Amino acid sequence: MSKRDYYEVLEVGKSATKEEIRKAYRKLAMKYHPDKNPGDAESDKKFKEATEAYEILSDDEKRKRYDQFGHTGVRGGQDFHDFSNINDIFSQFSDIFSGSSFFDDFFGGSSRGSRRRSQGIPGSNLRVSIDLTLEEIAQGVSKTIKIKKSNTCKACNGTGAKDTNSFKTCPVCNGTGELRQISRSIFGQVVNIVTCNNCNGTGKIISQPCKECHGEGRIVGESTIKINIPAGVYDNSYLTLRGQGNAGKMGGPAGDLIVVIKELPHKYFRRDSDNIIYDLWISFPQAVLGADVEVPTLNGKAKLKIEKGTVSGKYLKMSNKGIKHYDRMGFGDQLVKINIFVPQKLSAREKELLKELDSQENIKPNK
Ligand SMILES: [Zn+2]
Ligand SMILES: [Zn+2]
Repeated sequence: MSKRDYYEVLEVGKSATKEEIRKAYRKLAMKYHPDKNPGDAESDKKFKEATEAYEILSDDEKRKRYDQFGHTGVRGGQDFHDFSNINDIFSQFSDIFSGSSFFDDFFGGSSRGSRRRSQGIPGSNLRVSIDLTLEEIAQGVSKTIKIKKSNTCKACNGTGAKDTNSFKTCPVCNGTGELRQISRSIFGQVVNIVTCNNCNGTGKIISQPCKECHGEGRIVGESTIKINIPAGVYDNSYLTLRGQGNAGKMGGPAGDLIVVIKELPHKYFRRDSDNIIYDLWISFPQAVLGADVEVPTLNGKAKLKIEKGTVSGKYLKMSNKGIKHYDRMGFGDQLVKINIFVPQKLSAREKELLKELDSQENIKPNK
């Protein structure tokens, strides 16, 4: 199948500015990111397609060639980097997502390998999920959770040693932290430098371990963690709290705490992006004559005017009564869908009235 036009992919015009292209890509990347659509091949394809389009259109030189020659102008050679790994995309385009903590959080995490090499053994990541009501998501909320995790040992400050004199030079690497491994191949002698396993690259080993943590530098305990969740987060999206996971061994860096958002179903509302939808049932006379009704909102009840002659299926908009946008100012709306109630049980009198009504001139459709 031939490739789609890059402008079409990003849903921008041919004269779109760099900023418009950036925004368009950001929107699509957020929608189709594989983390948000696990196992969905279609999203994956869309995501890669958008990324490819962005890579070309965000580069003046490549865009010029694309405008002139189309896909053939930019294909081949090294023009397009084939991303086999999602993380590549984000290290390549990390600038586009900066300035938005959601993206830092969303696409962050230690898996990108940007963590500096340091002493000790890194702690593992922890994953927790948090149930949020639509009301909490609408405004943003801060939650305090208790989790069991390893924390840095206070007695030894994470070193694992009894005191500062409880170290000695590693006998395996003689304090260099590295080992040279020499192997022979058909190309001759190859020297590989590897981290010393005995001291984990620190060059020192503990002669007298800390009594509290027995040399681990960390202790498992219950921790209370406060998590600030911004408004507008989605179900199954996640926030990464750097360094809030398990503490590292012997002074190694801590892992991350990954907080997965679970949106609880709401009694009244369905969510559509930052809008919420409410199904309102009104009677036929109310629809015809108009009425003042009360509807629930995310912050209590509100009055709503039904104009006379309102048809079934119409949406009434209650501006700014929806969810606060994550990435810009303002709120979504509450949309009230009008449904006309058809009674299933009627008294004899009611039947009589309806029959009489039905015989009237203006009551039938397609008159
Ligand atoms: Zn060593
Ligand atoms: Zn200790």
